[in-house]
Amino acid sequence: MTRKRFLKRAAVGIFSLLAAIGIAIGISGGSREQEKETTTEAKKVTGELSIHYIDVGQGDSTLITCDGMSMLIDAGENDMGSKVWSYLESQDIEKLDYVIGTHPDSDHIGGLDVVIYKFDCEKIFMPDYIKDTKTYDDVIQTVRNKNYKIENPKVGETYSLGEATFTIIAPNDDYEESNDSSIGIYLTYGENSFLFTGDAEEASEKDIVKNGINIDADVYKAGHHGSRTSSSDELLEAVTPECVIISCGEDNSYGHPHGAILNYCITNNIPIYRTDKQGTIVLKSDGKDITFNMSPADYY
Ligand SMILES: [Zn+2]
Repeated sequence: MTRKRFLKRAAVGIFSLLAAIGIAIGISGGSREQEKETTTEAKKVTGELSIHYIDVGQGDSTLITCDGMSMLIDAGENDMGSKVWSYLESQDIEKLDYVIGTHPDSDHIGGLDVVIYKFDCEKIFMPDYIKDTKTYDDVIQTVRNKNYKIENPKVGETYSLGEATFTIIAPNDDYEESNDSSIGIYLTYGENSFLFTGDAEEASEKDIVKNGINIDADVYKAGHHGSRTSSSDELLEAVTPECVIISCGEDNSYGHPHGAILNYCITNNIPIYRTDKQGTIVLKSDGKDITFNMSPADYY
């Protein structure tokens, strides 16, 4: 474990005891690089950021709230729309400031028509990638019925979610594969950072690293449900995550998560949280410390 990794990890407190130690170590004595990041990049924040990695079985759906604003990234399969809808209601969400359909595969945008139908949506982002499926048409039709427009965000654009900021990091090219066309975002809140890459695979990950936007993150949601076709060495070297979240279905037919990401976490002592084993995972950040609503998963 490098000094940087140790210090960075120390600021990611897992529950109170570690968090208390983390405050003492992680914030008082950073490496030069960390001090630089803190002084030049980290904004002071006063509220709280929450990220909910919603258990939608084999698929993705993530709710992010900050200072009364909210963003939903994906909504699981077609049969998960009402589950995501009721989860958002349980969190008192009345309106979504951002809705991101990372890419047109059904395990990501399947439930999105229900969500867009039920909630007022300010901005809807999807990649410039059309898929000839009923699932995709349902989303497009719902967007039209509500007189909304789908925007294709460009890499490098940044947006505010309360005091949090997110930058579009992908897709960097037109790809043949739907997965590689995934919209990726890098979210920062104070000194904490979070990475979401949808189902981007190696080709897209390569371009994410190449484009040079900082993706060094405290929490990384493993690309493509922890598949071996994502989370390439190159990407992980740039991310150096302190925690990894895996969103996949119990006993799914793809064998997600694959051994590679699990072994990476074990080798580097990185805690893993898994929706298939633990259900919906909720983390909170005050801009310095990150706490979870549960302990990490056992690796196997
Ligand atoms: Zn997927």
